[in-house]
Amino acid sequence: MTRVDFPVVTIRCVRRDKCGKCGKRTRRTLKLWQTRNPLNRNAAGVPKTEREILVELNEELAEKLRQPLLCSACEYEQIWSRPPGEEVK
Ligand SMILES: [Zn+2]
Repeated sequence: MTRVDFPVVTIRCVRRDKCGKCGKRTRRTLKLWQTRNPLNRNAAGVPKTEREILVELNEELAEKLRQPLLCSACEYEQIWSRPPGEEVK
């Protein structure tokens, strides 16, 4: 079988800040990516270009940066402290 490797468009951002919950100094790496392939299409139904993907990834990153930064311990706690009935199925 022939393996086809589609190019992956990635952006990385290192965030250094205090944890929004416990105040601990935290460093987290955000990595967002999309594969450029014929099935990854834009709203017009045309396969996205690398540039379009980068625009989307940057929007997604900006959205994530609006959320308070949490250290790994607080993030873990947040995931497991959801009240019953709110689990994602
Ligand atoms: Zn914390």
